[in-house]
Amino acid sequence: MKFAVRLLNIAIICAAIPLFASAGPDGELTKRTRYLMDTYCSVLAPVKGDQKITAALDLALDRVEELDKKFSAFRPGSPVYEFNKNGTPITDPETLGLVKRCLDMNQQSGGAFDITVTPLVKLWGFYGEIPKVPMIPSKEAIAAAQKMIGPGSIELKNGKLIKLRSSAEIDLGAGAKAYAVGEAMKSLKKSGVRSAMVDLGGDLYAIGLYNGKPWKAGIKNPRGEGALGILGMTELSMSTSGDYERYYEIEGKRYCHVIDPLKGAPASELISVAVLTPDATMANLLSTSVFVLGREKGLKLLKKYPGAEAIIIGADGGISLTDGLTKLFSLKEKGGKQ
Ligand code: AMP
Ligand code: MG
Repeated sequence: MKFAVRLLNIAIICAAIPLFASAGPDGELTKRTRYLMDTYCSVLAPVKGDQKITAALDLALDRVEELDKKFSAFRPGSPVYEFNKNGTPITDPETLGLVKRCLDMNQQSGGAFDITVTPLVKLWGFYGEIPKVPMIPSKEAIAAAQKMIGPGSIELKNGKLIKLRSSAEIDLGAGAKAYAVGEAMKSLKKSGVRSAMVDLGGDLYAIGLYNGKPWKAGIKNPRGEGALGILGMTELSMSTSGDYERYYEIEGKRYCHVIDPLKGAPASELISVAVLTPDATMANLLSTSVFVLGREKGLKLLKKYPGAEAIIIGADGGISLTDGLTKLFSLKEKGGKQ
């Protein structure tokens, strides 16, 4: 696929891949990895023999593990699981905090971002394993699922999340990973770590410098190998939503895991959206929202968040970059070598 830069001011991107130069004055990076939130979570830092920093990496992963248990919709006993399966009200303040941010984004995005979207996610086969023989749901089934969703099916009041419709379920999948990345970084800072990168399945957060330079992340080519460009990151998080993460194809058309609640079908105008902001959760809420809204409406939404920058790639190959990215981003030639 050929990508054409649509000049907002310059252009290109996709999912993030941390890139590391060989050892410089800061020495080799120490990396700790665990399988959490259905993906690999890595924490990296130049340790320089300091055991306290090594211990801090493990503590940060402990924090992500704790959040994995809390936010999982598939783990019996988690507040989200018990709410979905048994209607048990959610009272855990941290879960409610994330729910509140998701509900705010629902309003800001005009309904594009919706944590009650589960009936549609199930209908299209993206809940758990993707079916071996996927099928496009009927118009009637889509209309029925759309009637079941919407923020009116739940209520957050007096420190409690309750169901207003017994079939309501919530899915924090579009915000939980980045929230966890932000919390891991908070944990590292609390332990006194000044330079580190957290990578949770491509949701990244970098603080400080490595070998005197910002940490580097490659922007994944959404339709091929390698990176389209390189980004310098410090005190910054990046979250991506893409149609190459979970998808199937029927008669040459791709259907992905991000659903447009208003259309009742997978969003299809864009193939990748990366959002950068110092607030990791916001980056993730925005990347999913922009992915659903499409280029024009997505850029309008981003304007409401002055600290947020984005790289948007359309199914037509057009790439848009927001103004502030020009300083952070450098293109690779032909999406290939640096
Ligand atoms: P992300 O990869 O961050 O864009 O998150 C995608 C995940 O969020 C999906 O796997 C679903 O669990 C969930 N999701 C799908 N569509 C939406 C939507 N319109 N609003 C909020 N969450 C969604
Ligand atoms: Mg997201």
